[in-house]
This record gives sequence, C-alpha cells and structure tokens, in this order.
Amino acid sequence: MSKHVLVVDDSKTIRNLVAFVLKSEGFKVTTAEDGLDAIEKLYNIEAVDLIVSDVNMPRMDGFTFIKNIRAQDAYKDIPIIVLSTEGQEDDIQTGISLGANLYMVKPAQPEKMVRNIKMLLG
Ligand SMILES: [Mg+2]
Repeated sequence: MSKHVLVVDDSKTIRNLVAFVLKSEGFKVTTAEDGLDAIEKLYNIEAVDLIVSDVNMPRMDGFTFIKNIRAQDAYKDIPIIVLSTEGQEDDIQTGISLGANLYMVKPAQPEKMVRNIKMLLG
C-alpha cells in the first residue's frame, strides 16, 4: 500500500508542487493550509505515515503544530520534515528540538526531498 504523506503549507503553489512530486513517486498525499487545518486532517483521515510542514503559516505556525502533535501519543513518533524559508541555525535548532526529524530549507530539490522521505519511512 502506498505511504500517506500530509503536506502542510499556506502557499498553494508549494502545496501543489510538493503534492505533485510525491504523487508522481507513488505516495498518497493530503494537503493542509496551516497547523490547525493539519491537526483537523490528522484527526479525520486515515493514518498518515509522514508529515512535511512549513513554518510560517497563519492561525498556527509549523513549530506550534509540531509541538502540539508531539505531545499526543498517537503522533509522537510520526516522522516530520520541516520545509521552510527560515534557514537560520536558531530556526533549525528550534525545529529539531521540538521534534522534527529533518529540517530542509526552501527551495529544496525535489529529488532530495523524496530521498529524505524514503529514508525516514525506511
Ligand atoms: Mg508559509
């Protein structure tokens, strides 16, 4: 069965681009437009195998989203890749310390993202 990836980004262009790349690699993809939308989707859809999340988003940013789901047993082990324009060392440290498995800075090479996803899904 294909692995299910939740792509969280407030930019429709990025959501569509990442979804397109992942679908073409055989992944099942659900998209969400901010952290709150992503939490709702996590509660309402079948199991998600991995999350790709932006940081800067309205309503609930990516760091708050990660902190929130890492505090819940059902989601504490799900692999998370941060995909953000914020590439400062502080941001990366914050993302990793909140529980992200990997931090990628935009623009990320699609092949590299796919490779990282496959590695995390091991
Ligand atoms: Mg954003």
